[in-house]
Amino acid sequence: MIKKNFLTGEYVIYSLDRAKRPQNIKKDILITPVKFCPFCIENKHMTPKEIYTSFNDEIRLIDNKYPIITDDREAYGIHYVLIDTKDHEKNIINYTDEHMFYLIKSIKDILNILYEDKKLKYVQIFKNKGINAGASQSHSHWQILGLSMLPNKQKYMINMLKQYEREKGKCYFCSIDYTNNLVYENNSFLAFCPKDSLYCYEINIIPKKHITNIRYLDDILLKQLGVILKKCLIKLDLIYSNVDYNICVYNGFREDNEYHFFIQIIPRVGNLAGFEFSTGMFVNSILPEDAAKNLREI
Ligand SMILES: [Zn+2]
Ligand SMILES: [Zn+2]
Repeated sequence: MIKKNFLTGEYVIYSLDRAKRPQNIKKDILITPVKFCPFCIENKHMTPKEIYTSFNDEIRLIDNKYPIITDDREAYGIHYVLIDTKDHEKNIINYTDEHMFYLIKSIKDILNILYEDKKLKYVQIFKNKGINAGASQSHSHWQILGLSMLPNKQKYMINMLKQYEREKGKCYFCSIDYTNNLVYENNSFLAFCPKDSLYCYEINIIPKKHITNIRYLDDILLKQLGVILKKCLIKLDLIYSNVDYNICVYNGFREDNEYHFFIQIIPRVGNLAGFEFSTGMFVNSILPEDAAKNLREI
């Protein structure tokens, strides 16, 4: 079965037999010794000065010492690192609900700071956990990139959402029937495996109400978002112990790039390889409704 992902236009082949392949699983685990860890507070001399701190210094925002982008003639950008715990080894699934609240609140606060920089057109927030997800430090952290341009992928996604709304008179995310793809829900958010997932066990989290931007969440919603994010990561960890993953936050920034904001969790279990890089097509070895059922029931 082949599907076209609505939001990105990318094709995904559901090849369920792929999961039966014999595999030599050698899991690479990223471990940075504390002595060399720039994100441990005792090594703060190794990093630029904090721009923002929260939750008794558990959460600290710094400039990335090795930014992807700074300032040149073609593009301008800001690259921050958000260190989200003092504990060198702590996994986000072990954070308290209060810690999760301050983590999500810090993302809101940083978006508000960056919003004031009129040169920025878009902000991408993401987390790489583990070596298979592209992390270079094992100490938990997020990255926040402000860009003076809107990336092509975001342009495409926003156009698709606008087109859907023009044709159907309703937001795409507000119209989906999530019943068979639901992973978990609380009062204000739901987590589901998208029916056209490009990746095995991909989970998206969205607000139940049409909210375009994390900047508009009040404290009650920030808390609920933290709780559901942790819940999804715990469920994923029960399916694949200590799995590497990427978390990507798709969030409206300026009025001209509005989403129904959502958080995408991509477990890095099937390696992206030659086929994906050469064709831009993806192979998924589990149907999203089966992945959702497994996650829902675990
Ligand atoms: Zn550390
Ligand atoms: Zn909506």
